[in-house]
Amino acid sequence: MSPADRPSIDDAQPPLLVARDLHKSFGTNEVLKGLDLTVHRGEVVVLIGPSGSGKTTVLRSLNGLETPDAGTLAIQGGPAIDFATPPGKSTRFALRDRSAMVFQHHNLFPHFTVLQNVIEGPWRVQRRNKDEAVDSARKLLARVGLAEKEDAYPHELSGGQQQRVGIVRALALRPDLLLFDEPTSALDPELVGEVLLVIKELADEGWTMVVVTHELAFAREAADHVLFLDGGVVVEEGPPEQLFTAPAHERTKRFLARIM
Ligand code: ADP
Repeated sequence: MSPADRPSIDDAQPPLLVARDLHKSFGTNEVLKGLDLTVHRGEVVVLIGPSGSGKTTVLRSLNGLETPDAGTLAIQGGPAIDFATPPGKSTRFALRDRSAMVFQHHNLFPHFTVLQNVIEGPWRVQRRNKDEAVDSARKLLARVGLAEKEDAYPHELSGGQQQRVGIVRALALRPDLLLFDEPTSALDPELVGEVLLVIKELADEGWTMVVVTHELAFAREAADHVLFLDGGVVVEEGPPEQLFTAPAHERTKRFLARIM
């Protein structure tokens, strides 16, 4: 399914998320230098750019793992959080509740079974009913072809299976927004496809997501909107066919020539 055939992006509603002029420094290293990002409900936004350009820091800022030094973030047309005034815990937790992140390394608990890993968030953190959390976890595991693996421990699974459990764990939280931070870059090449396929299927189902990836073929196929970051700003953005085939900026052209 191409992005055009998907359940439509809802741009009649206020965007799910609008980040404006985000700044973030680590010590003297200014990593985000005025970054803007808008995500509509149902949209698949892909961030590309050289290592160190700030992609992970953007994702972490969107879900409250990092707090920008300045800039604003508005969620679903609500009042904007202005980071010039450091947000309190409740704001950070509110951000975290809306999104779920899939990391480069799956970060599964090694001493928990697959099922225990998946229900931990919904049951213990979100305090949902345990039977309902188990039921929902089983459905999600079946959905990614891992129904038989609920009693396995992470070390008994392949890297691709572990990452699929990582994705299910994020879905189980029922977030409004899925954040993927280079979800396939730690995998052996032969395992990349199965994980990208799951992400692509979720995109086709209408999940809203922001994906950091170096997999340009995937970005081309799955993204509605691609942002090229360099030096902590968005240098260029647009639909994938435009950005990949007719990039306007020299920096984008150079980056694409290097990795394509
Ligand atoms: P990308 O994802 O594009 O590779 P990152 O957002 O991971 O870029 O990192 C951008 C820069 O920020 C890098 O120079 C990195 O070393 C620095 N950085 C990221 N997180 C931290 C941190 N917690 N402490 C100090 N420096 C950090």
